[in-house]
Amino acid sequence: MRAVIAVVLLGWWAFAGATDVAAFELLRSNGDPCSAAPNLRWSPAEVVVDTGNLGMVERGLAQEAIDEWRSVLGSRLRFQSGTGRVCNADDGVTTLAFTNVDCQGRSFGGEVLAITVSTWQGNRLIDADVSFNPNTRFSPAGFRQVAMHELGHVIGLDHSDACGADGIGTLMNSRLVESFSSPQADDIAGASFIYAGGDIGVPEGANGCAISAGPDAVAMPVGLGWAVLALLAWSVGRPPRSRWRGRSLLH
Ligand SMILES: [Zn+2]
Repeated sequence: MRAVIAVVLLGWWAFAGATDVAAFELLRSNGDPCSAAPNLRWSPAEVVVDTGNLGMVERGLAQEAIDEWRSVLGSRLRFQSGTGRVCNADDGVTTLAFTNVDCQGRSFGGEVLAITVSTWQGNRLIDADVSFNPNTRFSPAGFRQVAMHELGHVIGLDHSDACGADGIGTLMNSRLVESFSSPQADDIAGASFIYAGGDIGVPEGANGCAISAGPDAVAMPVGLGWAVLALLAWSVGRPPRSRWRGRSLLH
């Protein structure tokens, strides 16, 4: 496994200059990132986050993850601190917490590190909550990256490899095969696309993908000196009236 990872990283570095930066995918109102349905965004462009249910160390790391996205988006998306109830889908507050089951009451798979459950109406995100698997031994850097990835979902990004691209070189890869301390160029392009107009919604862009999403889950243990981390991703849409819920797990 370690040799394979090394090859992957070398390959990416060697061709980094030629990396396709158009691979980002967006959460969409029909739950299918590969469709041309309207993408989801917070509107007005503000997300309220509650890290108070995490331990002291994780809280600091989560704040760093928030600050990474804040530095990317600036005033185009405001991050506010607030207090919500863990996994409550109706309080409009994004809670980050270790929970025994995810925010839809399902057990974590052993390889699942975290799950974000988003709630939206139309193309407006109205809630998102992040669960971390309490059975995972996160390194500080690992937790920070996973939190940053989940926050990518919170703001409206889907997995960069959801529609056929390999996702290499991106934070939003559904597989944790590289270590990043900040969102990468493709992730930044995706976030910037969503919030280009700040509070004003932007017209639907050309981010459709004709390739169907792959199998729901991909698990890949990773070395890299971290605790064993794996990712998996899937999204599920379910339509009670105009409300759909999606979940994605990632890394
Ligand atoms: Zn994910």
